[in-house]
Amino acid sequence: MTAPRVTSATPGERSDFGGTERTTVAIVGTGFGGLAMALELLRNGFDDFVLLEKGDDVGGVWRENTYPGAACDIPSPYYSLSYEPNPTWSSRFSPQAEIQQYMRGLVDKYRLRPKIRFGCEVSSATFDEATNTWRIDAGGTTIVANVFVPATGQLSRPKLPDLPGLDEFTGPSFHSAQWDHSVDLTGKRVAVIGTGASAVQFVPAIQPHVAHMTVFQRSAPWILPRPEVQYRKWHHTLFKLVPPVRLAERFGFWLLCEVISLGLVDAPWMRPLISQIALRKLRKEVPDPELRGKLTPDYAAGCKRGLFSDDYLPTFSKPNVSLETTSIERVEPNGVRTADGTLHEADVIIYATGFRATEFLGPITVRGAGGRDLAEVWRDGAFAYKGMSVPGFPNMFLMYGPNTNLGCGSIIYMLETQAGYIAQVIREVARRRGIAVDVREDVCTEYNRALQKRLDRSVWTLCSSWYRNASGRITNNWPGTVLAYRMTARRWQPSDYRTVLPARSTEGVTV
Ligand SMILES: Cc1cc2nc3c(=O)[nH]c(=O)nc-3n(C[C@H](O)[C@H](O)[C@H](O)COP(=O)(O)OP(=O)(O)OC[C@H]3O[C@@H](n4cnc5c(N)ncnc54)[C@H](O)[C@@H]3O)c2cc1C
Repeated sequence: MTAPRVTSATPGERSDFGGTERTTVAIVGTGFGGLAMALELLRNGFDDFVLLEKGDDVGGVWRENTYPGAACDIPSPYYSLSYEPNPTWSSRFSPQAEIQQYMRGLVDKYRLRPKIRFGCEVSSATFDEATNTWRIDAGGTTIVANVFVPATGQLSRPKLPDLPGLDEFTGPSFHSAQWDHSVDLTGKRVAVIGTGASAVQFVPAIQPHVAHMTVFQRSAPWILPRPEVQYRKWHHTLFKLVPPVRLAERFGFWLLCEVISLGLVDAPWMRPLISQIALRKLRKEVPDPELRGKLTPDYAAGCKRGLFSDDYLPTFSKPNVSLETTSIERVEPNGVRTADGTLHEADVIIYATGFRATEFLGPITVRGAGGRDLAEVWRDGAFAYKGMSVPGFPNMFLMYGPNTNLGCGSIIYMLETQAGYIAQVIREVARRRGIAVDVREDVCTEYNRALQKRLDRSVWTLCSSWYRNASGRITNNWPGTVLAYRMTARRWQPSDYRTVLPARSTEGVTV
């Protein structure tokens, strides 16, 4: 394989390059997915790859989500790479900046920076059957790669609400994932639209500063206790000197989430237990029965993402906070009008309305063998074999693809499994120069039939959420434990794939 010509780039600096470049593997994205893939390749002694990143730094969601209070909700000892533990997290639920710093540290440690092209947005990728290569259009350059690994995440494209009048509001407004830090919220009347994972973190964080905050809620989230611990110096020393203690933290939360995951799919009898814990917490933290009624979810626990917080619910008893449950009619120049005709005046609107989660690969035009369009193949909902391979798209492997999200658990664990699987294929593709592998249609169809059958038993069928697309198909979640996924995807099985030789020399053959 020809070694890639790489352009060094530091955060904030745009890579300036043009023309055509050649590499074995092109990875798109430098969130945990892209980095996990790159690190796995390096750990296997393989360095013929580039990472293409539209942003100006690594981090993915941890670069973008800088809202006050942003932190992981899966404890850091578990929400980190297994082979890169960090004994010095400042707390169990580390803040955004620290997580991004951890990721930057990985890039430096593995000397990855020269392989990353910042400011490089991929707009299309086309499989060339004559050469078995992917031609990837990336901000003025064409990358020609044997293997294409999109690691663009499920939550990297913010979604605004579908409300009339969004553009008419005269004050500042922004999405929580694009927080405008130039807007001083001190003494302002703030309208928050949405009560998902991000709102649960920033609502309590901004409450002390604002004059008044109206939170518009469509459905109340289930809130569970957040067992936060500020790690002190002695914790750090213990984690460094006695690794089993650190591993016990990781193992404990891994186990807890595995048990909860069973409750979400296979053990429905556990669900009332989870709701009882949440309802007891609600009773304790919200004394006013009317307010408590509004904050009580009206759907099964676990159906939407369960959230962990000890300060969200008490925020609604503060004198400067109102909870509005009447549906929103429109946004107006001076605020938000609800269906009962009330205008809720606001100086600032913050949209906490989530992401385009079911639109995997989003605006990238991907064309596989025979010119087939991935958007068309996925018109009824995204699917893939083990979340990574789609028939007709040889040598394309998705990180954090369809049905690999979790109701509870560390996505990083899933990404490590995927990186290990893809690295096995890449080794084979690099060894047998010029081949491509394409998952067999029958194998992929049967896998997804069984997967959807399992999902039919899951709690996620009981309400609408970002786990499901417009037609109701669950496209995002994995129906089980992370261990079950690892068992499924720990080994690449060549017999699940067709080996395709370049059209230029011979026809495709099945091994
Ligand atoms: C606020 C927030 C908190 C979260 N907390 C947790 C948690 O506690 N635990 C957990 O398990 N999960 C959590 N998640 C889920 C999180 O998405 C995953 O854990 C993980 O970070 C996903 O990594 P990724 O690399 O797949 O995607 P991302 O982090 O979204 O990275 C994708 C990257 O691809 C780049 N990209 C996208 N399109 C293009 C393009 N066309 N060209 C070039 N580059 C492109 C983006 O700029 C981005 O850098 C959270 C998500 C959010 C938004």
